[in-house]
Amino acid sequence: MANTSTSTSRQQEEALVRGDLPPLEQVRDDVWALAQPMPGDHLAYSFTYLLRDSDGGVLVVDPGWDSDENWQRLIDALQQLVPGCSGADVVTGIIGTHLHPDHVGMAGRLRDASGATLGMHVLEREALERHHARAVGDVPADDRLETWGVPAERRAELAQYVDRSPEGLVLAVDRELADGDVLSVPGFRLEVLATPGHTTGHLCLRDDARGLLLTGDHVLPTVFPGLGLGGETPSNPLADYLASIDAVCRYPDHEALPGHGYRFTGVAERARECADHHLKRAREVAEVVAAEGGRSGEPTIWDIASLITWTGGWKGLHGFQLLSALHQTQMHLDFVRSGGLALR
Ligand SMILES: [Zn+2]
Repeated sequence: MANTSTSTSRQQEEALVRGDLPPLEQVRDDVWALAQPMPGDHLAYSFTYLLRDSDGGVLVVDPGWDSDENWQRLIDALQQLVPGCSGADVVTGIIGTHLHPDHVGMAGRLRDASGATLGMHVLEREALERHHARAVGDVPADDRLETWGVPAERRAELAQYVDRSPEGLVLAVDRELADGDVLSVPGFRLEVLATPGHTTGHLCLRDDARGLLLTGDHVLPTVFPGLGLGGETPSNPLADYLASIDAVCRYPDHEALPGHGYRFTGVAERARECADHHLKRAREVAEVVAAEGGRSGEPTIWDIASLITWTGGWKGLHGFQLLSALHQTQMHLDFVRSGGLALR
């Protein structure tokens, strides 16, 4: 796989290769990266970023997967940054780049313990509300798996992941953020970049003085982010993503602090590479549909997904990764049918 990103942290990159957890690392003045393990066999950890303001408070971006071990790791890190503190008492704000539990699973717990507010993009809050409504049964159960042609024996494996967000989190979002908002953090100027695609309310944060771009799961160094993974959206996630990539490409010299992997430079090239990956797959979907449609009628999403190329192979996809692959296939098909490829 071509990869244009260049690691800027040897210890993060080496830890990734070894399959270890990188240690707490200072990235810039008053900025640290903390790796928080997460379950599953796809990615071993997500990054929490700790920004210490000039008043001695700490802004926590993406607290990570909710577990007692991760909680303790976060408290230990905060005590290292602000000696003498008890941990959560120094947290003055929490930001979630998007609704996935490996990023904001611990946000509710941290908010309760610190009294700090949680900020997320307004569209992400609305997505959380929809997931919550589905979980408590206000909206009909999801029948997508059947529509997609998922064989009956595989449906239970996938159903547990459909539109799932950290429980109770919807009630915890105190502050709705939008593109261009500037966060008031003493000693920092952090601007919100709305970057829909991976989820509909995904956001990145930009610090021009330090030359940093916190990219969440929008642009990652070693894997291509899946798109449309935050529930149903009114617009096509691939079309959204292509526009959001352009937004990131305006800051080619910023160092990227991603949600997974290692920090890196070359964010504009890497962003284009991620966009190209998805466009290539959309073309592949178009070809499969053209070939299959003539042969045996309209193929299902399951049929199409089983015939296109997946980085780890179709047979290797299970659980969340398989559900994600089916989402991607539906999204690419919608993109093709709406004429998206013709515009490119
Ligand atoms: Zn994510």
